[in-house]
Amino acid sequence: MKADCLFCKILEDQIPASKVYENSRVLGFVDIHPQAKKHFLFIHKNHSKDIVDMMDSSPDDVKDIYQAISEFSKTQDHFAEGMRVVTNMGPHAGQTVFHTHFHVLGGEDLGRFGK
Ligand code: 5GP
Ligand code: ZN
Repeated sequence: MKADCLFCKILEDQIPASKVYENSRVLGFVDIHPQAKKHFLFIHKNHSKDIVDMMDSSPDDVKDIYQAISEFSKTQDHFAEGMRVVTNMGPHAGQTVFHTHFHVLGGEDLGRFGK
């Protein structure tokens, strides 16, 4: 828990979120500004600031996240046709929240990845 971290506050129920998945290590919730018909964010309960920090400090957390996303996706009919999982790091990727998070997008044809 990092006191000034938005997503730690969601984990602590200090800020509300529409939760869609939770286990002892991972939380999934709806992105407040969806970029696709379905747009969820998956975060680990251990705070880290980005994917490199997570890999340096606690690499098992990455597996926890992908396990959770995989399990969750199987419960979502709309992901039968696929989904996109993205994590942004740093200014070139436009990271705005510095608690490592994985965007899970789908529910429609997202087109090919890229500009
Ligand atoms: P980033 O740009 O850092 O990869 O993604 C941050 C994401 O967090 C954005 O997609 C943004 O819409 C989402 N977000 C920011 N604040 C909140 C919030 O208070 N609640 C929820 N559910 N999502 C948020
Ligand atoms: Zn945090």
